[in-house]
Amino acid sequence: MSNIPKKRIAIFGSTGSIGTQALDVIAANPDLFSAEVLTAMTNHTLLIEQAIRFEPAVVVIGEETKYHLVKEALAGKDIKVFCGEQALQEVASMSIYDMMLAAIVGYAGLKPTLRAIEAGKPIALANKETLVVAGDIIIRKALEYRVPIIPVDSEHSAIFQCLVGEGRNKIEKIILTASGGPFFGKKPNFLVNVKREHALQHPNWSMGAKITIDSATLMNKGLEVIEAKWLFNLRPDQIQVVVHPQSIIHSLVQFEDGSIKAQMGLPDMKLPIQYAMAFPQRIPNDFPRYNFIQPSTLHFHEPDLKTFRNLALAIEAMKQGGNMPCVLNAANELAVYAFLRNRIGFLDMTDVVEKTMMQIPYIEHPTLEDYFETDGEARTFAASIIHLYG
Ligand code: NDP
Ligand code: MG
Repeated sequence: MSNIPKKRIAIFGSTGSIGTQALDVIAANPDLFSAEVLTAMTNHTLLIEQAIRFEPAVVVIGEETKYHLVKEALAGKDIKVFCGEQALQEVASMSIYDMMLAAIVGYAGLKPTLRAIEAGKPIALANKETLVVAGDIIIRKALEYRVPIIPVDSEHSAIFQCLVGEGRNKIEKIILTASGGPFFGKKPNFLVNVKREHALQHPNWSMGAKITIDSATLMNKGLEVIEAKWLFNLRPDQIQVVVHPQSIIHSLVQFEDGSIKAQMGLPDMKLPIQYAMAFPQRIPNDFPRYNFIQPSTLHFHEPDLKTFRNLALAIEAMKQGGNMPCVLNAANELAVYAFLRNRIGFLDMTDVVEKTMMQIPYIEHPTLEDYFETDGEARTFAASIIHLYG
């Protein structure tokens, strides 16, 4: 074991749900991994704690006003401290690490991930928004720089695992499973009254606030459909969503001969995180195991696209292509944060996304600059609608 050099991991978003679980995996496998870069946006307290424990080469705090707090707390240690958005990108290009775990939430993850690809770093990708916004460019760059993108999102990790060893065998379709979230089976007359606290309770997964709301509205599954299209080079008609409330089957691949492979296990994000970091190896762990003998039934249902219109909007954005998924993502980010601040209602989130999609000019073949501009325009427009809700 000790002859293999440690893989030096850069965790962008180390204070988040994925980031902290990745640090658990690193702590459990000190011979295999080290944490060389840790980054946070505002949570300087946890960032400092993590830095003292894991002794990375570099930490970055997004919020510039907190720089001196982090700097002072780490004085005398061999840890470089940077701050601000630009620093995130510069650190992504540094030679001090071997693999980026892209675990920043939202559009903010795009630029650092692009820089890491251009620096030839393999990516363990949790930040699905990066592929939703600019999937064509990310995938093209990854091919150009020969950089593997290994999904961390549990569904995509499942599909990736099902595809190992399949070479050029063609996929007929993939089946993305969805838990259905806390409001599975509910109708609009119920959803209209849903409050933030209720929507933040996910039945199977404990995650950051944004993805938890996205799971409740099914936008998360919509973003994942787009993520899957890019990761696995699929046509929209090759992607099916099936609600599976138990979250034991993490997703499935159906091949040309009709054979279906599934990846299963108890819902625990540490498993796909560990798989992506250790790939192509599998490494042992003591996570709880699924027991087939215990009485349990796995259920499957069609998603209710009429009630959970966000999923329908995301599928529509994927079919339109161009800058439309970028518009969808930007409007959704604003809508989710407005809902989290009790500024708009649960169903209003969908209205904000839909209206923004109708407003922003369509670009069929966007450049990276076009994506940046589209994101800005969509945010401005979405903010103006949110303002109207008072
Ligand atoms: P969290 O909100 O828990 O964590 C987000 C991390 O990003 C934190 O470290 C946060 O810092 C940092 N951050 C937030 N905003 C910015 C910004 N503008 N610039 C730089 N850094 C920022 O999110 P999750 O861990 O839940 O999710 C991370 C990503 O992984 C998302 O894209 C999500 O969709 C995806 N994912 C998450 C899963 C999960 O189980 N959580 C499952 C599958 C995918 P700070 O703490 O200081 O705010
Ligand atoms: Mg997922």
